[in-house]
Amino acid sequence: MCTQDAFQAQRSQLVGLLVSGSLEGFESVLDWLLSWEVLSWEDYEGLSLPGQPLSRLARRLLDTVWNKGTWGCEQLVAAVREAQTDCQAPELSSCWDPHSPHPARDLQSHRPAIVRRLYSHVEGVLDLAWEHGFISQYECDEIRLPIFTSSQRARRLLDLATVKANGLAAFLLRHVQELPVPLALPFEDTACKKYMSKLRSTISAQSRFLSTYDGAENLCLEEIYTENVLEIRTEAGLAEPLQKSPATLGLKELFSSPGRLTDDADTLLVVGEAGSGKSTLLQRLHLLWASGSDFQEFLFVFPFSCRQLQCVAKPLSVRTLLFEHCCWPDLGQQDVFQFLLDHPNRVLLTFDGFDEFRFRFSDRERHCSPTDPTSVQTLLCNLLQGNLLKNARKVLTSRPAAVSALLRKCLRLELCLKGFSEEGIELYLRKCHREPGVADRLVRLLKATSALHGLCHLPVVSWMVSRCHRELLWCGGGSPKTTTDLYLLILQHFLLHASPADSVPCGLGSGLLRGRLPSLLRLGWLAVCGLGKCLKNLFGSLVYVIFLSSAPFSNLFILPFVSLRDNNISDRGVCKLAEHAMHCQQLQKLALFNNKLTDGCAHSLARLLACKRNFLALRLGNNHITAAGAQVLAEGLRANASLQFLGLWGNKVGDEGAQALAEALGDHQSHWDIRNPGVNSLPETPPGLKTLTPDSPFGFSIWGRGARGLILRAVIFRSKCYPINRIFSLVLASLEENHLQDEGVCSLAKGLERNSSLKVLKLSNNYITYLGAEALLRALERNDTILEVWLRGNTFSPEEIERLGQRDTRLLL
Ligand code: ADP
Repeated sequence: MCTQDAFQAQRSQLVGLLVSGSLEGFESVLDWLLSWEVLSWEDYEGLSLPGQPLSRLARRLLDTVWNKGTWGCEQLVAAVREAQTDCQAPELSSCWDPHSPHPARDLQSHRPAIVRRLYSHVEGVLDLAWEHGFISQYECDEIRLPIFTSSQRARRLLDLATVKANGLAAFLLRHVQELPVPLALPFEDTACKKYMSKLRSTISAQSRFLSTYDGAENLCLEEIYTENVLEIRTEAGLAEPLQKSPATLGLKELFSSPGRLTDDADTLLVVGEAGSGKSTLLQRLHLLWASGSDFQEFLFVFPFSCRQLQCVAKPLSVRTLLFEHCCWPDLGQQDVFQFLLDHPNRVLLTFDGFDEFRFRFSDRERHCSPTDPTSVQTLLCNLLQGNLLKNARKVLTSRPAAVSALLRKCLRLELCLKGFSEEGIELYLRKCHREPGVADRLVRLLKATSALHGLCHLPVVSWMVSRCHRELLWCGGGSPKTTTDLYLLILQHFLLHASPADSVPCGLGSGLLRGRLPSLLRLGWLAVCGLGKCLKNLFGSLVYVIFLSSAPFSNLFILPFVSLRDNNISDRGVCKLAEHAMHCQQLQKLALFNNKLTDGCAHSLARLLACKRNFLALRLGNNHITAAGAQVLAEGLRANASLQFLGLWGNKVGDEGAQALAEALGDHQSHWDIRNPGVNSLPETPPGLKTLTPDSPFGFSIWGRGARGLILRAVIFRSKCYPINRIFSLVLASLEENHLQDEGVCSLAKGLERNSSLKVLKLSNNYITYLGAEALLRALERNDTILEVWLRGNTFSPEEIERLGQRDTRLLL
């Protein structure tokens, strides 16, 4: 028994049900409710306003029936059930008296059956009604507006008969009775069936093989496809709270997820960077449909590529688009097209690569006629907005940069393609290398090379890595270890593929690169320009510029990467980079650790430090910089007011270098108000060096005695005129193993007394004695912020450890 309370409790489910299908489903629910007189004519008019979002209409319907009490609610549930059944039944059994004295009332009470009988003959009936003078030409044209499906036209004709007291109702009641009963469901129609099967076999042939990025190979999609992570993007305020955040979807759930942006919009957008797998995802969707494995709610799927569409210069209609640019129906074109228009909810259109479409999305030109031609841009924009083929699902893919706020307005759901998960990378590589042991080796190597592994989430990089690995195996070389190795290999591969068979020496190797030096230099130049202009938000380091074999240079694909570490980069490379970086506003950080840098690049880097006013981080760990280089760097540092991270771990700057850097730090106060040294006058997060971690490549880090000199020097400089907050604006200072001894700790302690940001101070293994610890204890008496001082591995006796521990529990001994 459906009480009003139970009805209210199911409200969101009912809204979901009413909007899940198409407008057609909703309107057939209204047909039933009208025929049972649950809805009055006024109710009905208020619920069939054109242009209203379906979700709003559905909610209004629920309010209307709820106001009618328990009976109304029960009838609604019954109507939903009837509407679901009657879309599967070939014919609704219903008979009416064709000569009824109350034709308008009978039209209404048999409405569901009459709509069903009328809809495939509506054009002829309209002509007849006009010839008999029951309706005007204007009314005919109104009903025939191309935005309406055949069943909507049938309903509009019945609606007109209800309000027109001129015999139209009696005419329809009589005439519809004579119309042939449809023998079977419309999609059993031969022409439609033939078209469906032609479409399936065409798409199956097109989607079975995945052509690799270089066009050199065709892989069986079924065997190579690896699930890609699809995240749902929500608009704050518009979306309902998500169960898990960020919410993810499997490909097969693509259409079952409720609209999160606009309920009654038809378009789903899949956004992803170049190479993230957008085209492959669509190809998989097409194959699953064509092979009958999934997405069978669609009878027709029409795949389009935006790159190809934009070449269509002539005006085109929806009909031309579907038939001439996708699949031609060999039989009954008109019937097939009419079927598509009448059953838009059984149709799926996919548009790949909106970013390659040279036109921007616009809603300026409205076009609603599926048969009238217009420009390809207007056609696509109107399809996406639902002005054309309303209720047909559309899936659009694009790189993020081409997605405008205007486009987002017509989206049902936006999904972000995140690439392979950790497991996905491994699974993919195993699919690529099925020979025993090969994949194991590659996975192991990759995991040990974090710079490459991190990039492999992008499917195209996984493919490149796998490809290079195979090339190198064939040549008997090792695996690529750096992104540069990878770049050069890929480049050689493309060169080889792009060259006529007899024009280049066989196989990969430096000869191949040398032979194409001018082209390579031009590519390199493009890459550098790309970096200079910061084509992407993140300043990349290595840029892959890949040209497709068929059209060298016409299809550049640029991938910047997040770090330059581990890349065998020499001084020459870094000098060039520093020169360009100088002019790149967005560039604020350079990670260059583990390369081949010597003092030879110090002048360029010093100039970068001195001139680039917003520079934040320079990571030079594990290179070959000596005291001379450090002294040059110190000059740059002296003029710099922005740097927050300086990494010099693993170099050989020695005492002299450290001293120079310390002095530079000491002078590094131009932006500090040293005339007013009170703690309270400090900005909350003062600019300047914020991290001091000698044991990590991410900090100001010099090992050994040099470090001690440096730290002491810096501390002393501060303690003379200013508390050491300059350094200790950080919350953690890691100064372990630095030969600080008591002298250093006493200086630190002085600074600590006035420090109000540091929480953890790590001083393990620093040759500190009880004397140094006492100085720390005195400082701690005045310092409430600090939570832990690590003092393990210093020179305390067991008794001293016990005593110190009792005096302040914050000392970790
Ligand atoms: P996008 O369209 O986003 O630029 P693609 O779909 O063309 O990216 O993917 C680039 C390459 O990455 C493909 O040619 C294929 O080799 C590989 N790839 C992408 N997605 C997958 C996937 N899900 N499974 C296996 N390989 C994939």
